[in-house]
Amino acid sequence: RAKEAGKNRFFVFNAEHDRKLQARWQQIQRLHQALECNEFLLHFQPKVDLITGEVLGAEALIRWQHPEEGMLAPGLFLPHLEGSDLEIDLGEWVIDSALRQMEIWHAEGLMISVSANVSANHLLQSNFTERLRLALERHPGAQPGKFELEILETAALSDMGQAARTLASCRELGVRFALDDFGTGYSSLTYFRDLPVDILKIDQSFVRDMLDDPNDLGIVEGVVRLAQAFNRQVIAEGVESMDHGALLLSIGCHICQGYGIARPMPAEALPEWIGHWREAKEWSALNHTSED
Ligand code: C2E
Ligand code: MG
Ligand code: MG
Ligand code: MG
Repeated sequence: RAKEAGKNRFFVFNAEHDRKLQARWQQIQRLHQALECNEFLLHFQPKVDLITGEVLGAEALIRWQHPEEGMLAPGLFLPHLEGSDLEIDLGEWVIDSALRQMEIWHAEGLMISVSANVSANHLLQSNFTERLRLALERHPGAQPGKFELEILETAALSDMGQAARTLASCRELGVRFALDDFGTGYSSLTYFRDLPVDILKIDQSFVRDMLDDPNDLGIVEGVVRLAQAFNRQVIAEGVESMDHGALLLSIGCHICQGYGIARPMPAEALPEWIGHWREAKEWSALNHTSED
């Protein structure tokens, strides 16, 4: 009897395992189809300098225009791709599309930088640099020095040596790197020490809560100091209000990104938004207020 029960349990476990595998396979097939049918697109969220008022760049954020379910955020589909070949193909699509958009903007005289998010698995591909070089060649109108890659700092970079070499060779192409969501991973400082990155993006959870929580404010201040001490650029994400902006300016962080400035938007909407932003008196007054 015991043997039979054991057998049964094994069977149950197996069936469930099969179901999960099958579900994953179906999800990946569907996402494959989505890539082929051009259902993915990039939205762009501006990054602004609160001292000069200038729009410095925009972060490319992937969306899935699902025929039945509407516009889907990356959190709903990227996790299904982790570890698959499609994760790499989609990553290549993102880089190519972001460069194409930057090329269009640069041709229009809008010389902003563009950043794209890159997953750890993608970055660790042995031909990553070579493929990036080819992508840059396909878009000669896009200045490599204005292209940035954001590495999710919480993503487990299983091979730090390989990651550091890839970053170094990509930087020779002119491309810059940012550590995304800085401060949330288990090894933020190790990443900071061992990877040749140019930019730290303070995670939005710290920024959002820093107005009420002295611990979060302390962390934000600490990251700003760290960046200053090592001559790195620092960007605050999750700037939801002008109060956030004013506080960030007062502690020396002037490059900001967040819903309070602008939500991610279709590429076509960005030039018009920039026009409005330049006339937005409230935000430009911040700088003067913070100097009083
Ligand atoms: P992330 O790179 O840290 O991007 C910032 C996320 O925070 C975006 O969500 C953005 O819409 C959201 N956000 C911006 N400002 C605010 C704010 O003021 N308040 C709040 N609450 N949220 C804000 P999104 O587009 O849903 O992307 C989520 C994450 O998915 C990204 O986080 C990034 O890790 C990943 N991701 C997005 N696009 C790509 C991509 O093309 N490739 C890869 N590998 N990952 C991507
Ligand atoms: Mg990012
Ligand atoms: Mg982030
Ligand atoms: Mg994030």
